[in-house]
Amino acid sequence: MIKTFQYRIYPFTSQRKTMESTIETCRRFYNDCLAERKEAYYERGESIGKFSQLRKVKTLKETNPYATKIHSHVLQVAVADLDKAFQAFFRRAKAGEKAGYPRFKGKDRFDSFGFKEYGNGFKVDGRRLKLSGIGRVAIRWHRPLEGEIKTLRIARKAGKWYASFSCEIAEKPLPPTGCAVGIDVGISSLIATSDGELVENPKWYRDGQAKLRVLQRTVSRRKKGGSNRRQAVHALQVYHERIANQRNDFLNKLANELVVNNDLIAIEDLQITNMVKNHCLSKSILDGGWGYFAKRLFDKAVEAGRDVVRVNPAYTSKTCSGCGTIFENMDLSVRRIDCDCGLSMNRDVNAAVNILKRALQNRVGQTRWELTWAVAPCVSQEAPAL
Ligand SMILES: [Zn+2]
Repeated sequence: MIKTFQYRIYPFTSQRKTMESTIETCRRFYNDCLAERKEAYYERGESIGKFSQLRKVKTLKETNPYATKIHSHVLQVAVADLDKAFQAFFRRAKAGEKAGYPRFKGKDRFDSFGFKEYGNGFKVDGRRLKLSGIGRVAIRWHRPLEGEIKTLRIARKAGKWYASFSCEIAEKPLPPTGCAVGIDVGISSLIATSDGELVENPKWYRDGQAKLRVLQRTVSRRKKGGSNRRQAVHALQVYHERIANQRNDFLNKLANELVVNNDLIAIEDLQITNMVKNHCLSKSILDGGWGYFAKRLFDKAVEAGRDVVRVNPAYTSKTCSGCGTIFENMDLSVRRIDCDCGLSMNRDVNAAVNILKRALQNRVGQTRWELTWAVAPCVSQEAPAL
């Protein structure tokens, strides 16, 4: 499996300038390739593929003085990035979603370049990272790199530079725990689990959101094009990044805890959830973080030999998890499910139980799970309401 390791790098001024100019050359090349595809399609009805554009790298290096010093893989990766954008566009169009044709990238919309083969354009050289055409860059190895390095991406975020290594690592299965859990993205809490646990939004997140609003307001008050505005935008970017780091750290730990403690984790299908639940997610850490959380969950599960099952969330919050009765006109303000069958449960926990049940239903025939469910229905801990 592939795992990404990200480290902060500290280029000298000259190295930074080379990296910036590499990004700019890649951006122009990316836009040129996009223009070529667009023109070919709209004017001649032809489609130009990745491979014919990859061949352009050689000509570019011969004709463009900025490109001569750039490793050919870096330019090839820009072509591959564009191709990925097109593949995603085709996939969305095919699925009937709002497709969005790949866009030309402005200066503030292009922040990275990549290498695709270890030892060819980049390698770890002692404590430093050696990049072709850029030099030996200082890097902070805040955690050990594992596995075999495959590719590298150099990215600029809010004025800081990072190196992300994609490594092939061996899976490390965790011992089975016999537990399965369902997760509902809650309305009042962050997530609710079928074990009856409610995870709240951390206080620092709400405080951070308040400060973010202040910084945003400052930006909008500054005159466009002025240096005061540029300063305010920088402050906003830096703070945004800090919040995102904190958020990702929190979600990482949450995902890790779930993976360590459970053999199977059932979650709502991301795409369906987006449509159904968006209005409830606002002001939550998962608002914008859900994709990250789900990805971490899947990645960690693969590494640990666990299952993550996606289920359709329709009606999970309106159905009694005990008897299956559907409460059609249930208001969002109703916090508990009180059913005639005797079940009384927090609304989000009830939904989480339904999500788990749905995941287990899909696995009929896999006795391990039927058994787990029969022996340890995870909600039994919740005390009945008086
Ligand atoms: Zn019931």
